[in-house]
Amino acid sequence: MSAPARGTAAILGAGPAGLMAAERLCAAGLAVAIYDQMPTVGRKLLMAGRGGLNLTHSEDLERFLPRYGAVPPVLGDAIRSFPPASLQAWAEGLGQELFVGSSGRIFPKAMKASPLLRAWLARLTGQGVVVHTRHRWVGWDEDGELLLAASGDQLVHSRPDVTILALGGASWPRLGSDGAWVPVLEQAGVAIAPLVAANAGVKIAWSDIFRQRFEGGPVKRLSLTCDGETVVGEAVVTRDGLEGGAVYALGPAIRAGLAREGQAQLLVDVRPSFSHQELATKLAQPRRKQSTATFLRKAAGMAPIAIALTREGARGALPADPAALAALIKAIPLTVTGMGGLARAISTAGGVRFDSVDRHLMLAARPGVFVAGEMLDWDAPTGGYLLQATFATAVRAADGAVAWLSAKQSR
Ligand SMILES: Cc1cc2nc3c(=O)[nH]c(=O)nc-3n(C[C@H](O)[C@H](O)[C@H](O)COP(=O)(O)OP(=O)(O)OC[C@H]3O[C@@H](n4cnc5c(N)ncnc54)[C@H](O)[C@@H]3O)c2cc1C
Repeated sequence: MSAPARGTAAILGAGPAGLMAAERLCAAGLAVAIYDQMPTVGRKLLMAGRGGLNLTHSEDLERFLPRYGAVPPVLGDAIRSFPPASLQAWAEGLGQELFVGSSGRIFPKAMKASPLLRAWLARLTGQGVVVHTRHRWVGWDEDGELLLAASGDQLVHSRPDVTILALGGASWPRLGSDGAWVPVLEQAGVAIAPLVAANAGVKIAWSDIFRQRFEGGPVKRLSLTCDGETVVGEAVVTRDGLEGGAVYALGPAIRAGLAREGQAQLLVDVRPSFSHQELATKLAQPRRKQSTATFLRKAAGMAPIAIALTREGARGALPADPAALAALIKAIPLTVTGMGGLARAISTAGGVRFDSVDRHLMLAARPGVFVAGEMLDWDAPTGGYLLQATFATAVRAADGAVAWLSAKQSR
């Protein structure tokens, strides 16, 4: 970080990005105020904690960075400067013991966010960071001051030396991140890629009988293929489709198919551990008097939900020929008609485009205003990549703000 600076910082949004930026700016000597529109802070972080709080991932950066697709150089630099090891050390510094799960994902032993958030807020308050809840940022006034709507429709003006925007994406809007900042920034000349649901379920028109019997049911081990890309993992049947890690990981390919053709084809392999030939051989055994379901369960080890999914894909009678049946079980065709909405998506793709910010994440259209976290235009699967990018961009934006202010003051 650069030399200590004097001055004031306003941080808009008190999720993990805003709180991390506050910590860095405060450590650099700035007087920091955070504003959030909700009555309490870090609500989405707490929600992430319900799934165990997958903080980051243990794989090396060569494997880690491509998870962000065509990773924008600024994001790559931010993660290299604040890599998973730094995030782990930071969490441990807050008293959180961590462990690496079997998939390489890293979690706090507490498997929730509340102890970390509690310790973090106590430390920030002790450092002098002031948190203003129920303050909604609505834009800038004619003099360039920040405008915040506080309770009782009172408008608060603020003119900090530096501003960090950390307003999140638009998924789970009831937790505070509602994407209402998009038109405000567009009006200020900032280019925004449309916010769309990422790490979200997909829509599939199940038959009534399948939905009634299997809604909420897990498909323990399957492989999914879309547009030539294959992912092995788990999924859960929902009322109107599928959700879960394997589905989320294919999100970009599914979204591209939907954008291109209005629908996307998903091929589901419910017996990924067998080759087609192995499965065909098993299915060539004599059936005797067994029902189809009993035969498939005994000969191929298929769970009832896997058998029912195969029937959904067949849209009629299952093929009698073992080779054809094996081919169906290993590539059940399902048509995806849309993505689940933002209301329940884990994250948002789209946001402030990287060509609108410099390498310190400062807005070209607004010198002194920096952007951090999920409101930037990156996308990644679940696995700890979301929080890692959130924290790393917050560190980059805060350090950039300190450097920018120091340079301004020394002129
Ligand atoms: C169910 C669920 C599970 C998840 N699990 C994981 C996980 O295990 N691992 C992982 O890496 N990621 C996970 N995530 C994603 C992760 O929580 C987010 O990527 C992360 O919270 C983004 O942080 P942020 O600070 O950028 O935004 P947010 O956490 O969304 O915070 C933004 C803040 O800005 C405030 N705000 C918005 N607009 C305004 C405004 N106009 N004025 C004032 N305040 C405003 C909001 O109230 C909010 O507090 C999960 C998300 C969900 C929904």
